[in-house]
Amino acid sequence: MQAEYDSNNIFARILRGELPCFKVYEDADTIAFMDIMPQSDGHTLVVPKEQAVDVFGLSEAGAAAAIRATQIVARGVREAFQPDGVVISQFNGAAAGQTVPHIHFHIVPRYVDQPLRGHARQQQDMGVLKQHAERVIAALAKLKG
Ligand code: 5GP
Repeated sequence: MQAEYDSNNIFARILRGELPCFKVYEDADTIAFMDIMPQSDGHTLVVPKEQAVDVFGLSEAGAAAAIRATQIVARGVREAFQPDGVVISQFNGAAAGQTVPHIHFHIVPRYVDQPLRGHARQQQDMGVLKQHAERVIAALAKLKG
């Protein structure tokens, strides 16, 4: 059973440039930007450009490209924020916690003694998000050499 894709979901609109985001990475198949309601500092989303609701609707090529981009961006997030650990997660269906019906991967830095903030709960200050994006962009540039 394939979930039907809603081309007006919020990430589709970001991908079309109709809504803003703090973008940190883009290639032919994916973009990555800061989560607007981060669960921790540096929480970044990797979003395939392919129109798929979840992992079940994503092509094999799209899945490979998404994981490749997720690894690249996660390295940048780790370099920028020096967390104690990094969670990479991806939710399929509302029952699993998915709130935006366009496939995406979460990169969530974890810091010892800092509990995660709620999922999709509290909007981060835009100035802070911008600074965080700049840190990831700089780290990715450094890692690329
Ligand atoms: P999901 O619950 O679908 O796995 O994750 C959706 C994520 O998108 C949540 O972490 C939420 O904070 C984030 N989010 C929701 N709306 C927006 C938005 O308009 N811009 C950005 N950058 N992130 C969003």
